[in-house]
Amino acid sequence: MILLDGKKTSTEVKDEIKKDVEAFVAKGGKIPHLAAILVGSDGASETYVASKVKSCEQVGFNSTLARMSTETTEEELLAKIEEFNNNDDIDGFIVQLPLPKHIDEQKITTAIKHQKDVDGFHPVNVGRMALGQPAYISATPYGIVQMLEKYDIETSGKHCVVIGRSNIVGSPMSILMAKNSKYANCTVTLTHSRTKDLEAVCRTADILIVALGKPAFVTGSMVKDGAIVIDVGITRVVDETKKKGFRIQGDVDFDSVAEKTSYITPVPGGVGLMTVASLMKNTLAAAKKEIYK
Ligand code: NAD
Repeated sequence: MILLDGKKTSTEVKDEIKKDVEAFVAKGGKIPHLAAILVGSDGASETYVASKVKSCEQVGFNSTLARMSTETTEEELLAKIEEFNNNDDIDGFIVQLPLPKHIDEQKITTAIKHQKDVDGFHPVNVGRMALGQPAYISATPYGIVQMLEKYDIETSGKHCVVIGRSNIVGSPMSILMAKNSKYANCTVTLTHSRTKDLEAVCRTADILIVALGKPAFVTGSMVKDGAIVIDVGITRVVDETKKKGFRIQGDVDFDSVAEKTSYITPVPGGVGLMTVASLMKNTLAAAKKEIYK
């Protein structure tokens, strides 16, 4: 079993970005600038945004964090988005999800100018990605593809099973894995809460990508020998032995699954770090106007 090390791989990706930024700025390019809007004070969202701001510092980007209260109205958030859409110094920005229930996430995602949508959630970017046109690719699926690439994992002709069909992970992941490209070319099965006999479907997977948000859901009996297992899940589970009172648990029961796999991502230290690195990659592409001229 080989551990797909998100820490090592994301550091490599960020080092490449840093060098690229230095070369771009040396030639007169602007310093890339990523902005984030955080509504409310959800603990997990605070952690994710903090890690994005820290990564900006590591790769030499400027960053802006706009904090808005939980009571922020949809109109107020839309006004902030419009401000960032029109701020020429901001190359890309994100609105950290989830949002409070009174705000329509789809409306917010669509209000971000697609040229600045470095999270890759806007319908224009999702559509272009699906058609194989240049697009900002949703950071988590993009990070997973980069991980496969960094470890030079052969994917062509393999059966990839994705668990979960969310707009930000499962669905785009299934599209990317079926593409006619080097680290894809899989036969893909997209599974979800209505899938019959999920266990049996999972046992046919050469590559199993798990993104359903249920801690330790996938156990050893659901995985075939030699499979590649990518664990996207991040859930805080109560753990009194930890200082913070919780630990981060993936959707895969690592102890029973790892021994059967050829490759597996740990949680933490796997996909999450690659997600942030991919967001940096998208932001650099935005500053360099590589996707939209
Ligand atoms: P979501 O809740 O939007 O979607 C979950 C999906 O899982 C749904 O499509 C649902 O049909 C499916 N599902 C639920 N129960 C199921 C079951 N019993 N069997 C089969 N399918 C089932 O979740 P999401 O936003 O895609 O996130 C999934 C997980 O990934 C969460 O733990 C989230 O925190 C994590 N996540 C991690 C990263 C990262 O960077 N590592 C990024 C995004 C999300």
